[in-house]
Amino acid sequence: MDARGAVARISLEAIRHNLNVARQQAPNAKAVAVVKANAYGHGDLTVAAALEQDADMFAVARFEEAQRLRAGGIQLPILLLEGFFNIPQLEYAARHDFHVCVHSHDQLAALERTPLSAPITVWVKIDSGMHRVGFAPEEAETVFSRLAELPAVVQPVNAMTHFARADEPDNRAVTDEQIASFKAATQGRVKHTALCNSAGVLAFPDAHADFIRPGVMLYGITPFGDQQGTDFGLRPAMNFTTTLLAVREHKAGEPVGYAGSWVSPRDTRIGVIAVGYGDGYPRMAPAGTPVLINGRRVPLAGRVSMDMATVDLGPDATDKVGDEVLLWGDGLAAEEVARHVGTIAYELVTRMTARPRLEYVD
Ligand SMILES: *Cc1c(COP(=O)(O)O)cnc(C)c1O
Repeated sequence: MDARGAVARISLEAIRHNLNVARQQAPNAKAVAVVKANAYGHGDLTVAAALEQDADMFAVARFEEAQRLRAGGIQLPILLLEGFFNIPQLEYAARHDFHVCVHSHDQLAALERTPLSAPITVWVKIDSGMHRVGFAPEEAETVFSRLAELPAVVQPVNAMTHFARADEPDNRAVTDEQIASFKAATQGRVKHTALCNSAGVLAFPDAHADFIRPGVMLYGITPFGDQQGTDFGLRPAMNFTTTLLAVREHKAGEPVGYAGSWVSPRDTRIGVIAVGYGDGYPRMAPAGTPVLINGRRVPLAGRVSMDMATVDLGPDATDKVGDEVLLWGDGLAAEEVARHVGTIAYELVTRMTARPRLEYVD
């Protein structure tokens, strides 16, 4: 008997391999490794340090994320994907070699009225069809010429856009239109361009441009809902594991867990595993969601609670307390678990809590 709680074992070697897969897909582009949201749950400082030789740049969503990477010794330029949120952030960004996305008239006006201690590198965000942030293609010309006037901006500026539906292989038309609209708005007017998230890297080679921005694929996860990373030669970077903390005899007709929502149709053995929504394992995971125990898939039975979940090991099970349980990773793709839960693997890895320890295996 030697049980322990949930641990996420992270392979930095797998992450380096996955960045290399992205590079092989887009051999002429530079790579911005996206490490936002704590590197999709994999530990941003450690991941960034492991990629510093292989990436050309990093990207994060929040100023504080970039600040932490710099404070932790990361030296490559860091792109703020939504730019600065206020003037102090802009000033800090200029001093610390953060590249800023500029997506709004508010940001443009702030750049125009703020003298900076060092010139800042700007990526103008064009809204080519996502309709979340960015300048309309018709506005691009005006925005470029206003930025061209600014001594505090590195000239010429760069431009980026983001795809809304590049993960839908059966619907290429929308992405093709985004690519065409972005190209028309930026051609001949900017230094570098960047369009591709992971889905773009894998499915839209004609959009690789100067810089790619792979995120989820670095962690071995595919953006395509009905596939998994290994289909593209990616290696899962995270093995999210726990152990069996109890194995119990269970009679047919007996419920298990809160609300008695699952009742066993047969005499069986129930395994109690040391993971719950307090670790970030989704409470919404329904009965039937697989975990891997001693090489076989075992279904969840009953509700996931904060600290424990229960699985139906079967009447003949020989599994013991302390045996390892794989929640997702090598042999059980996070994408497959996500399909059971009704979400995407991006969310599974990103929503983990601080309780599971991150262990780096190489
Ligand atoms: C998060 C993000 C990415 C990375 O997307 P993935 O689908 O994880 O590859 C790229 N670009 C922007 C602007 C993003 O916000």
